[in-house]
Amino acid sequence: MKKILSLILTVVMVCSLVACGNSTTSTSSSSSSSTGTEKLIMCTNAEFPPYEYKEGGDFKGIDVEIANKIGEKLGCEIEILDIAFDSLIPTVNSGKADFAMAGMTITEDRKENVDFTDTYQNAVQAIIVPINSEIVDSNDMYDKKIGVQLGTTGDIYCTDDFGDENISRYPKIVDGVQAMKIGSIDACVVDDQVAKAVVAGDEGSFKILESPYAEEEYAIAVKKGNSELLDKLNGVIKEMKSNGELKAIVDKYIQ
Ligand code: GLN
Repeated sequence: MKKILSLILTVVMVCSLVACGNSTTSTSSSSSSSTGTEKLIMCTNAEFPPYEYKEGGDFKGIDVEIANKIGEKLGCEIEILDIAFDSLIPTVNSGKADFAMAGMTITEDRKENVDFTDTYQNAVQAIIVPINSEIVDSNDMYDKKIGVQLGTTGDIYCTDDFGDENISRYPKIVDGVQAMKIGSIDACVVDDQVAKAVVAGDEGSFKILESPYAEEEYAIAVKKGNSELLDKLNGVIKEMKSNGELKAIVDKYIQ
């Protein structure tokens, strides 16, 4: 009986190791715990509601819930590393995190440094302006002062379109919104759902322009060449898309 039990335990342990793959064993901080459960380290920037934010010390949001489901399905514990947005890709490449999930848009430049999974969500870059602003769309933004979050696609695209000298970069977009409130800048560009959360949090002060600035797709980033983890993540994303789990999570946060 004892033998059978230990055999079962061995099988369970081997399965969970196989499920999480070798990606985690290469990082010093992610080793097997005493229960045999492997760990996957996700880096994110928890300043991005409803995708990732902190509430009473806990990480919440769409990406956090999707990551936890990924952990459940792969038999891994998910550990979250909360860092600046522009540190996410270097952190994945250094091996300190296994993947980055942060409402991260697939771009050609980023694709040169990391591998992206299949898309799990579509988004747009929205423009926020003070409620009485005369700016109607992005054509009115030349020679205006624009706030963005450092290193995001809002930053990259606005710098290209409106010139470096017109861009103010903030570690968190809420800081940009505060700057707009006191009139230091004229508009902020940020992902649509974040824009909605920010505007709803300060009723009557701001509006989101009707025409979006850019359309984009979010995906999870892994270290270039880590096809083992990439395949597993794509497998889970595919499953969660087809069985409705992904939509159920998104619908909890976005109406
Ligand atoms: N989607 C944007 C990007 O990838 C912003 C993401 C974020 O700030 N978390 O650059």
